[in-house]
Amino acid sequence: MVSSVESSVGTNRKVVTELPGPKSRALHERRQAAVSAGLTNGFPIYIERAEGAILVDVDGNRILDLGSGIAVTTIGHAVPELVDAVSAQVAAFTHTCFMVTPYESYVEVCEELAALTPGSHAKTSALFNSGSEAVENAVKIARLASGRQAIVVFDHAYHGRTNLTMALTAKNMPYKDRFGPFAPEIYRVPMSNPFHDGLSGAQAAARAIKAIETQVGAHNVAAVLIEPIQGEGGFIVPAEGFLPALSEWTTANGVLFIADEIQSGFCRTGDWFAVDHEGVIPDLVTTAKGLAGGMPLAAVTGRAEVMNQVHEGGLGGTYGGNPVAAAAALATIKTLRDRNLASRARELETVILKSLRSLQQDVAIIGDVRGRGAMIAIELVQPGTKDANAAAAKSIVTYCNQHGVIALACGTYGNVIRLLPPLVITDEQLEDGLDVLAAAVRAAS
Ligand SMILES: *Cc1c(COP(=O)(O)O)cnc(C)c1O
Repeated sequence: MVSSVESSVGTNRKVVTELPGPKSRALHERRQAAVSAGLTNGFPIYIERAEGAILVDVDGNRILDLGSGIAVTTIGHAVPELVDAVSAQVAAFTHTCFMVTPYESYVEVCEELAALTPGSHAKTSALFNSGSEAVENAVKIARLASGRQAIVVFDHAYHGRTNLTMALTAKNMPYKDRFGPFAPEIYRVPMSNPFHDGLSGAQAAARAIKAIETQVGAHNVAAVLIEPIQGEGGFIVPAEGFLPALSEWTTANGVLFIADEIQSGFCRTGDWFAVDHEGVIPDLVTTAKGLAGGMPLAAVTGRAEVMNQVHEGGLGGTYGGNPVAAAAALATIKTLRDRNLASRARELETVILKSLRSLQQDVAIIGDVRGRGAMIAIELVQPGTKDANAAAAKSIVTYCNQHGVIALACGTYGNVIRLLPPLVITDEQLEDGLDVLAAAVRAAS
């Protein structure tokens, strides 16, 4: 077994240059010449190493990470269990292509996914490289298994950037603009959005179902695809009862319920999956981000009788379920379980909500504080209204960055700040990060 990295990073935030520092700025110059302008960097500091909740940049700044690479390094950076598992697997073999010659870790990841995802029914999985690829395959499987074509998605949804998933994603700029034509047979219906629509879960579900029945026809619908807590769209948590009502309707109408748990899965919300909160049992679940702690891995897991209808050779891909990524996933799942990190996510929720709700009392620009577990956001508004305040979100992110904290904006209107801290963040680190965020919000008020 390869030994774990020595702890040499330091556990506190420490800014020693202006940010970005001179070395990062020099690298960024090189980047402009070599990397497509179509990619942007939220915070162009160049990272040299990382541990726990701290990133160290090339100028020696220690940055507090409240974004986890967008909910990917859910446990934290350089988790010893992951470092050991990945290092050992790299030395053993890095690739055979599962479709050519299989290996145990692929099977074991699928066994874990069957055990962890909701429901005690027989399940099988297929592994892929990215969240978008998992969503695309879930749609392929749902269409084949149901013999129907329509896919229902929601306002504010984000499901990826490949051609099919662009059609599933709601927001035009920057994800879709001028990249069409988009795939057909995608229908968008209203999401439950309690802060803005004031509807109960049952009312919001009735509204969505009415739209499906009148505009698509239940018998045409292969699947309803939904993020149980929306990610990029603004951390929108549907009203209690919305997901169960939708799920009941899908079951009654022979429609598959696909939960996109790519951002919300793997203990992020204080349960293994966000749907667990209301006991919803999806037919298919897509996972990625938190699944493998930073190695590219994604999965579709679902009812065996649905998944197994696909003809031989109908699913696959060269790298899907790569052995190094599979080793990382097994170590991630074991570590989440052994260290009881779902309960740590719930502790983080208590601390973060308390801090942000008390801040909300003091300032007029926080319209809403919401989320679950270590997936919490504030929605920024024009004082006295619910109108979006994207300028405030932008200035808060900039302030945080300049003070060595990574905080991410999201939302259809760019007015939501989301916190996705690594679950091993210490109480001191979290308090420090929340203090910086509070100062940023006050400065923007
Ligand atoms: C990030 C994300 C995706 C796309 O995953 P990629 O790995 O970036 O392709 C899909 N669905 C949700 C909910 C996501 O958050």
